[in-house]
Formats: sequence, structure tokens, C-alpha cells
Amino acid sequence: MFDFAIVGGGIVGLSTGMAIYERFPNAKVVVIEKEPAVAQHQTGHNSGVIHSGIYYKPGSFKARFARQGSQSMRDFCQKYGIEHDICGKVIVATKQEELPLLDNLYQRGLQNELNIHKIGQDELKEIEPHVNGLGAIRVPMAGIVNYLQVSEKFAELIKEKGGEIRLNTKVEKIHEESNQVTIETSQGTIKANMVINCAGLHSDRVAAAAGYQTDMKIVPFRGEYFKLKPEKRYLVKNLIYPVPNPKFPFLGVHFTRMISGEVDAGPNAVLSFKREGYKKTDFNAKDLAEVLTYKGFWKLASKFMKEGMEEYVRSFSKKQFTKSLQELIPEIQEDDLIPAPAGVRAQALKYDGNMVDDFHIIMGKQSIHVCNAPSPAATASIEIGKEVVKRIPVQTNLIESKLII
Ligand SMILES: Cc1cc2nc3c(=O)[nH]c(=O)nc-3n(C[C@H](O)[C@H](O)[C@H](O)COP(=O)(O)OP(=O)(O)OC[C@H]3O[C@@H](n4cnc5c(N)ncnc54)[C@H](O)[C@@H]3O)c2cc1C
Repeated sequence: MFDFAIVGGGIVGLSTGMAIYERFPNAKVVVIEKEPAVAQHQTGHNSGVIHSGIYYKPGSFKARFARQGSQSMRDFCQKYGIEHDICGKVIVATKQEELPLLDNLYQRGLQNELNIHKIGQDELKEIEPHVNGLGAIRVPMAGIVNYLQVSEKFAELIKEKGGEIRLNTKVEKIHEESNQVTIETSQGTIKANMVINCAGLHSDRVAAAAGYQTDMKIVPFRGEYFKLKPEKRYLVKNLIYPVPNPKFPFLGVHFTRMISGEVDAGPNAVLSFKREGYKKTDFNAKDLAEVLTYKGFWKLASKFMKEGMEEYVRSFSKKQFTKSLQELIPEIQEDDLIPAPAGVRAQALKYDGNMVDDFHIIMGKQSIHVCNAPSPAATASIEIGKEVVKRIPVQTNLIESKLII
């Protein structure tokens, strides 16, 4: 019998486990993960950027948690000796019509209380000599880290505090009873006082397995990358982003220096025909049928038909992908790019075709469901974990002496 069972050993589930031990130091926690290791999905397939929070609506969880979370992530990495680099990034306008959008973004960054600077062409050339831009925003607090390493440290700390990480264990059904939860898994039954769903690409299914039908569905969007050939890495000093399309939540292909020293270019955003489909050819009939029979998807598709088609063209044409990258760095050539592993984003989509913009957490009877935790949830993970734990009601069936409130 556990106090808390967390479904999902990605960075959000693991940070939630850590936050539980802050509030309930003697609690018994189990993290249930279907893969043989932690952080094998979104957390292990991302750009590794510590975001600042500049893009997000002021007051939203994303804006607040990215700002606070980037600081907590940095503190955590410093405390535990995890390699990271607060190298800063530039968001670059390459066309005249992007300059007003850059201004809007700058204002938003100020509203989000960030220390950012507008810079002109000369300063931009000093920071990123190979970038072609009319103007830019410099975001000094952005950085890079390997979130797989962060997650492994979270898991280690949970185990040190007496928690368990059960790998190779898939949650299939959840029964909430009056004062406990029975969780049926591929490895037998687990009982807990409360279950916390942090299942990322499967969070809607895990919520449904507990009897909660939300008004949203997870739609998987694959993000494909190239890497720069080692001899071309000099073209990118740190992080170079385009001005995002304000209507389209994904950020546009960008350049990211990874903590390993490699330089990634991407990701794009195409519908994945499988929730955990990392290759173009990956396909799962159930996953695809769920998307294609979902009204919300068709509403979204009709709204973003043009952007969607452009993303597909870029997915199949390296030439087009290169062309997008050349807007930022004209010197880049097709030959400089080597295909790199992709990631799949879990984006919650409502029935009305609107993407759920913010992080979204719903409360069940004996459960909490993190239903939407897309980017910048890795950056914000420590703060999301704290927020989830704040919502745990003080339950009579948790031993009183365990509580620190
Ligand atoms: C291409 C890409 C680039 C990104 N770049 C960045 C970035 O630079 N910076 C940033 O902050 N964020 C970035 N993100 C977002 C970030 O990676 C995610 O928001 C974050 O990793 C979400 O973590 P999670 O724990 O919710 O999900 P996940 O990491 O997907 O973890 C969920 C876990 O639940 C497990 N699970 C699912 N169902 C079950 C079940 N039934 N039983 C047991 N286990 C189950 C899965 O196996 C998985 O391990 C990016 C994402 C992608 C895809």
C-alpha cells in the first residue's frame, strides 16, 4: 500500500515525486513507468532548452512556471552538479514584417518581468556572427541542459527518500474507491491512497482509465531535427530562434547548441500517426483512428491547413527544411545537415479545435491528472510538481504525522 502512485516516469512525474517528499517526507511513493528506463519519451527527446517564459500569456501557468522554473532548474543543476549552461538566446526578425511581431514579443517579455534586451544588427553579429537579422531580442537567462540527466537525478533522489520506481509496468485500469485507489498494471495490482497521472502522450487515456472523460484529446505532433555536421558547428554559438507565428504555438525551426556540444536544427511539427512514433513510417491504427475521428482535429486542420502543409513539405524535403534554416543563417547548405532523432509532443486539443494553451491539471476523487504539459514543461517541471502537490487535499487517511503543511 502506497500513499501516492505516480503514473509516468517522465520529468513531470519525477518532479512531482520530489515535491511530494518536500511536503510529506515520510510518504510512500511509487512511480509507475511502462518503459525499461525513465524519461524515454518527450523528456528524452527534446531540445534541451531552459526556456525563459518570454512567449507565454502573462499570468498563465506557462509564463509563471517557466520564469520560476528556469531558476529552480538552474539551482537544482548547480546543487547536484548537472552540466548546464545559461548561454542566452537570440530571437531574430529576418523580414520587415516580423519587426512589429518582435516588438510585441518584447513587450510580452517585459510583462512577464524578464530581463531582456532589444538589439540591432551590429550587436546581433557580435553574439551570433553568422546570423542574418534585421533586429533581435536577447534573452540572457535562457540556457541548455540534458533533461534525461535531470530526470535520472530526480529518480535517484526519490529512491534515496524511500520511494520506488517500478519500470516495465504499464498502468491499464484505475479504480477509485472511497479511501483508496486500486491500479491494475501489466505487472499486477498496486494500491495507493492517491494516484497522480503524469503520463504525457497517454495522459488522456490514463484519465479515461480512471473514469474521467475530459473535453480534450492528446494529439501527437512529431518534431523532426537535423544536426549540423561537426565541422559546421561554428555557425551557431548558442540558441537562435525565429520570431514565432503568434497563431501557431510551436516555435518554428531553430538552432540549439546542445549540452553535448552538438548543434540541432529543428524541430518542425507534423501530425504523428502513432503517439510514440519517432519515425516517418511509424503507424498505429488505433492512434491514427482516434485522431481522424476526432472533430477537434478537423477543426484545427481547417484553421491551420497552410501551416500544416508547409510543415509536411519541410518534413519530406530537406531542401525546404534547409531553406527555412537559411532565413536565419544563409550560409547553411543541405550538405551541412545530418538527420537526427525526432521527438513527439503531447498537445491537448479541445473538441472545438482549439489547442489547450496552458498547462492543465484536473482533480479527480482520489486522483490528480496532468492533462497538458507540453513545452516548456521540462523547464517548468519543478514548479509543475510543486503545483500538483499543492492541490493534494489533506486527507484523513494520510497519517497525520506525515504532513508538513
Ligand atoms: C521535440 C520536442 C522539443 C521540446 N523542447 C523542449 C525544450 O527545449 N525545453 C522545454 O522545457 N521543453 C521542451 N519540450 C517539452 C518537454 O519535453 C515536455 O513538455 C516534457 O518532457 C513533458 O514531460 P512529461 O513527464 O509530462 O512527459 P513524458 O516525458 O512523455 O513522460 C510521460 C511518461 O509516462 C509514461 N507512461 C505513459 N502511459 C503510461 C502508462 N499507461 N503506464 C505507465 N507509464 C506510462 C511514458 O512511458 C513516459 O515515460 C519539447 C518536447 C518535444 C517533443
